[in-house]
Amino acid sequence: MLKLQKLTKTYKTGDQALKAVDLDVPSGQVLALIGPSGAGKSTLIRCINRLVEPTSGSVMLGDVDLTKLGAAALRRERRRMGMIFQEYALVERLTVMENVLSGRLGYVGFWRSLTRRYPQSDVDEAFRLLDRVGLVHMADKRADELSGGQRQRVGICRALIQNPALLLVDEPTASLDPKTSRQIMRLICELCAERGLAAIINIHDVALAQMFVQRVIGLRFGEIVYDGSPNGLTPDK
Ligand code: ADP
Ligand code: ADP
Repeated sequence: MLKLQKLTKTYKTGDQALKAVDLDVPSGQVLALIGPSGAGKSTLIRCINRLVEPTSGSVMLGDVDLTKLGAAALRRERRRMGMIFQEYALVERLTVMENVLSGRLGYVGFWRSLTRRYPQSDVDEAFRLLDRVGLVHMADKRADELSGGQRQRVGICRALIQNPALLLVDEPTASLDPKTSRQIMRLICELCAERGLAAIINIHDVALAQMFVQRVIGLRFGEIVYDGSPNGLTPDK
């Protein structure tokens, strides 16, 4: 479903963050991307939806090469990729419900919609998602009233309401305590299984990856140094 071919990123500073990375992700597969700080994990995730522009190589989503798209086509394809961030990236002064709905409409469309009514079907879907993650009673609370774990649940709902084919998840638990981290990882992996969603989860906590995913990609100095079962990992990898 997703295929990276010789994906390379060299930043203007000369940092070679990715060196000709090849990676195949079948539909429905959840994989964890691990590796030390600076290995290129974040760059890899961001090159897929072109928040970072790859230097060379291709990113095939189905039979579309995302690296070749113009702005309008890229916006369309990005709707098929949900993103979940380390720092949640919620709009603090909007409610939980509004934050979830912003995923449905896109940011610009969302602000336009404030002057209109939201389609009832979107509101219904937002309630269903919030119910699934245990936050339906918080729908009218402002985002800045939530705990970190609750915020990340909202971030998950906002990504899922796009009905994406692929989730890009960048350090979802880096700002959370260990217990909440496990809950959030479990939730992401369960939701992917329920929806047949593929996901790439950038996570520096190897133990968490081992608990929840079947395939781990180890990245080091911009190259894949491990691809396989989490059980095959040694502590220094
Ligand atoms: P992390 O290791 O958690 O991904 P960093 O602290 O390395 O985060 O980077 C924080 C931000 O700074 C990111 O947006 C990253 O892209 C950017 N960044 C990291 N390294 C450099 C660098 N050498 N020059 C410019 N920006 C950088
Ligand atoms: P990770 O997510 O594994 O910590 P990153 O993808 O953030 O790794 O970084 C990979 C390499 O690219 C590092 O050497 C980092 O300093 C560099 N880098 C990341 N972002 C930038 C940036 N915006 N500008 C320049 N160098 C960057």
